[in-house]
Amino acid sequence: MRETGNKYNLYQSILRSNELKEDALTFLEAVKNLPDRATVHEQTAARKNKILEVLGGTEEDWSDWKWQLKSRIKDSNILASIIGLSDLERKRIDKVSQHYRWAISPYYLSLVDDDYENSPIYRQAVPDLKELDPGGSMDPMSEALTSPAPCVTRRYPDRMIINVTNQCAMYCRHCQRRRNIGEIDQHACMEDIKMALDYVAQHKEIRDVLVTGGDALLLSNQMLKFILAELHSIPHVEIKRIGTRTPVTMPQRITPGVVDIIRQYPPIFINTQFNHPLEVTQEAKLACDRLIDAGAVLGNQAVLLRGINDKPFIIRKLCQELLKIRVRPYYIFHAKSVRGTGHFQTSVEQGMRIMESLRGHTSGLAIPTYIVNAPGGLGKIPLSPNYLLRMKNDEVVLRTWEGKIVKVENRPIL
Ligand code: SF4
Repeated sequence: MRETGNKYNLYQSILRSNELKEDALTFLEAVKNLPDRATVHEQTAARKNKILEVLGGTEEDWSDWKWQLKSRIKDSNILASIIGLSDLERKRIDKVSQHYRWAISPYYLSLVDDDYENSPIYRQAVPDLKELDPGGSMDPMSEALTSPAPCVTRRYPDRMIINVTNQCAMYCRHCQRRRNIGEIDQHACMEDIKMALDYVAQHKEIRDVLVTGGDALLLSNQMLKFILAELHSIPHVEIKRIGTRTPVTMPQRITPGVVDIIRQYPPIFINTQFNHPLEVTQEAKLACDRLIDAGAVLGNQAVLLRGINDKPFIIRKLCQELLKIRVRPYYIFHAKSVRGTGHFQTSVEQGMRIMESLRGHTSGLAIPTYIVNAPGGLGKIPLSPNYLLRMKNDEVVLRTWEGKIVKVENRPIL
């Protein structure tokens, strides 16, 4: 009798595991739509050589973040000589640049593959005529109304932001803070930064400070050290956070000097922004390894972008790739109605479909929280597919990740 039971259990287990395998195979089949890594790698190497040739740089220059920064591509003729754009494409870029500036680090440009028009890298980096479409607002989160001191944004009870610069390694076309990018690169002045630090010191309820911009790691080492040391010396500041996209757009910035500073002022949480699996390169991994080895905890805040990552298999692959380099997918932001970025917006339904495609289908560690930012600076709203169908006095009706309906006991509070 026991033997029959065991055989039945084994049979059921095999059936179930075949069912699960089918689910995994569907994803692996979809991933084949991504450009092949070996081909991309070859194209990246060729592109890098071309960029060095056009800019007159050396291998040594390539690894130097200051060279990367000063050599950012912001002229359509130079871009054309690297990518091979038509005159019409060049003119379109020039037209948009009369309204919004652009700059791409040589490193990030090297990731553009030969099919550049469809490249998720190219689309995040190079101006598009659609940016001139009307609509949207420059400040949908009313950040200007949540700044009680220079450089400060405060939207929550126990935490706040210090905006230290408007400079970035690249000006992402989907940037949700593009109103801050302006016409020129500008770090906040010392006087304003000191006032922001004073604000933190005087508000004992602030236990968590995010240093961001722009990109906080575009500050000089000296300034970064000053800010982190000051925050570290305030007894009620329990954790410090840094917002930076440099591991994605200019990983050369993660130098031994920066790493030494990070190591000195724990605990530091660093959030970056990988939006596509093709951004998870060896260079990006090395940058993340260095930060983690210095004791930082790394998270990713992706933005859901139409035509770039708004497919379930792309986000799932991205999150899995991030775990491999020890970066925890933290948030996926619904793109806001920022003027000039409307063509990147997706529907909330699509965001929910993507979230539904993650839970259960991959590790919980690979699942970020989907966030819609409330207008008017009212904060983040987490959205999740509905797994709770009904709650009664003695029973809760739930939906599993596969859509099966189950009931569990709802124990009364004794
Ligand atoms: S790095 Fe961040 S702040 Fe800078 S342009 Fe890109 S999205 Fe905007």
